[in-house]
Amino acid sequence: MTYPTQPTASHFIDGTYVEDSAGTPIDVIYPATGKVIARVHSATPAIVERALASARAAQAQWAAMTGAERGRILRRAADLMRARNHDLSVLETYDTGKPYQETSVADATSGADALEYFGGMAATLAGQHIQLGQDWVYTRREPLGVCVGIGAWNYPTQIACWKGAPAMACGNTMVFKPSETTPLSALKVAEILVEAGLPAGVFNVIQGLGDVGAALVTDPRVDKVSLTGSVPTGKKVYAAAAAGMKHVTMELGGKSPLLVFDDAHLDNAVGGAILGNFYSSGQVCSNGTRVFVQKGIKEAFLTRLAERVGKAVIGDPMDPDTSFGPMVSQRQMEIVEGYIARGIAEGARLVCGGNRLNRDGFWLQPTVFADVTDDMTIAREEIFGPVMSVLDFETEEEAMARANATEFGLSAGVFTSDMTRAHRVAAGFQAGACFINSYNDAPVEAPFGGMKMSGVGRENSAAAIEHYSQLKSVYVRMGDVEAPY
Ligand code: NDP
Repeated sequence: MTYPTQPTASHFIDGTYVEDSAGTPIDVIYPATGKVIARVHSATPAIVERALASARAAQAQWAAMTGAERGRILRRAADLMRARNHDLSVLETYDTGKPYQETSVADATSGADALEYFGGMAATLAGQHIQLGQDWVYTRREPLGVCVGIGAWNYPTQIACWKGAPAMACGNTMVFKPSETTPLSALKVAEILVEAGLPAGVFNVIQGLGDVGAALVTDPRVDKVSLTGSVPTGKKVYAAAAAGMKHVTMELGGKSPLLVFDDAHLDNAVGGAILGNFYSSGQVCSNGTRVFVQKGIKEAFLTRLAERVGKAVIGDPMDPDTSFGPMVSQRQMEIVEGYIARGIAEGARLVCGGNRLNRDGFWLQPTVFADVTDDMTIAREEIFGPVMSVLDFETEEEAMARANATEFGLSAGVFTSDMTRAHRVAAGFQAGACFINSYNDAPVEAPFGGMKMSGVGRENSAAAIEHYSQLKSVYVRMGDVEAPY
């Protein structure tokens, strides 16, 4: 690799980089060119063992530090990430193919937000005092122990921080396994945390395919598993964790609705639909990929949408002017092409895009289908690529019923100038993260997570603390014990 931020080995364990070339080699491919830019090795059983042993050994001492001490380290790491945002963003762009225009404002920065937020919260974690006459109960908020984080490939830096920051704030240690498609960025997060003063073993990163993830999830030393991934993987990981009665957070996929009413501000609605479908080339779990547009505004919406999508700057992801990058991998590109072909075969009207670009790497055009109906494959299944489906509707009641008629429940959005309707619609959505006259904002202050098949638990916000800690209650009797015999 030729760029300055290159991690120096495959794994990061017990405070330092570790290599074990006996592991299966994993080529790291730059999606914009299709060229191999690095190689890491999948964790061998010996590496898995070292990571878990290190996390286990470090946990008690880490938990014994005060929240203020733990928080200071996390906040220092946040400052380092911000100071190195350029280099980290370049690395994230190599890892994922996402344009620098995005990575420089959305990846290391949102990771730093999480470290800063939960670092600040660490000192505030406390139990309760409950008076019971002369007796009393107090509660202690205690860490779970060793947490395993397993990441998807779309936001490798952010996912490592969204899981690691609340876990560490609560006094847990973590073994994090990135997706094998994007193995680099999480290593830099681990390196920066140690530079900020994190004790060895508190945050470890090991590489591997699903089998490494499965070995982590089933290990009896692990107390909690947090996965970001697809619903099928989530079902497997949830079941494996249940066998050991482990805590879980599941951040899974979606097929989220975005409702645009006749009275919506046209350009804002079009902008929301663009952000909710084409940011990160559509590889975002919370995307609003079913865009329901009321009949009165439909033609104006489609015309303006096609005009604005035509202005996407597709090109070198390192060029700050580029606003649309490649798919993460050949495989993902082919999956999405398959869905585009299904859309055409099932009778959807192609408004724009639909083709691969004739260049090296994994490039697809931003694609819009109109006249999509609820039964079409592209309206039912998660595509995880730059494919927007526009569906017509007439009444609010009809749109709500159709919006909720899905097994998923991650996100949902509404564009309207009628605020009473906006709140009624938001209340009616069966989804964990909803938006009014906006789409896909994910500030660390707001809970994030899915309903129905889109997952369990919440990341970010104070709600995440509930998923990385447990309450112990201690009853204190002040008088004598009265036993019956
Ligand atoms: P996958 O579900 O294929 O994989 C997710 C992670 O789980 C990867 O690190 C994978 O390893 C690992 N894994 C796979 N099988 C197992 C197993 N049996 N036990 C333990 N770990 C396993 O998702 P992708 O990486 O392909 O990401 C895309 C999917 O993630 C999309 O469906 C998207 O909706 C979802 N997603 C959800 C988000 C959310 O917050 N709700 C955010 C981002 C993505 P490996 O890949 O190395 O095999």
